[in-house]
Amino acid sequence: MEQDRLLRQKVRELLENGELPITPPDSTWGGPGGGGRCVVCGMPVGAKEMGVDLEYRPAAGTPVCMPMHVHCFSAWDSERHMSPAPLPSAPPSPSPTPPIGEFKQADEFGAKS
Ligand SMILES: [Zn+2]
Repeated sequence: MEQDRLLRQKVRELLENGELPITPPDSTWGGPGGGGRCVVCGMPVGAKEMGVDLEYRPAAGTPVCMPMHVHCFSAWDSERHMSPAPLPSAPPSPSPTPPIGEFKQADEFGAKS
């Protein structure tokens, strides 16, 4: 769908500019819009529409609430997972590798005793 493609393109731009977060929010609420401006498309999320509120609670400072339309939220959620450029604000993700050799040795020891 053309509209969907344009929306995703816009989401990608906002992610690359750092205007949209790439990290998952601390809380999300779904429900009728509260009239707040959607952070993706800029249109108000009206009371007759379904919207999603994303809340980010930084360790210091005030929580940030970002209203989105449901379709804008799903575009953001899928684009942020496939965003090619890691943003500077993204937290480092350590991936510890377990020492496989040690486990194997332990198994052999157990079987032979
Ligand atoms: Zn929107």
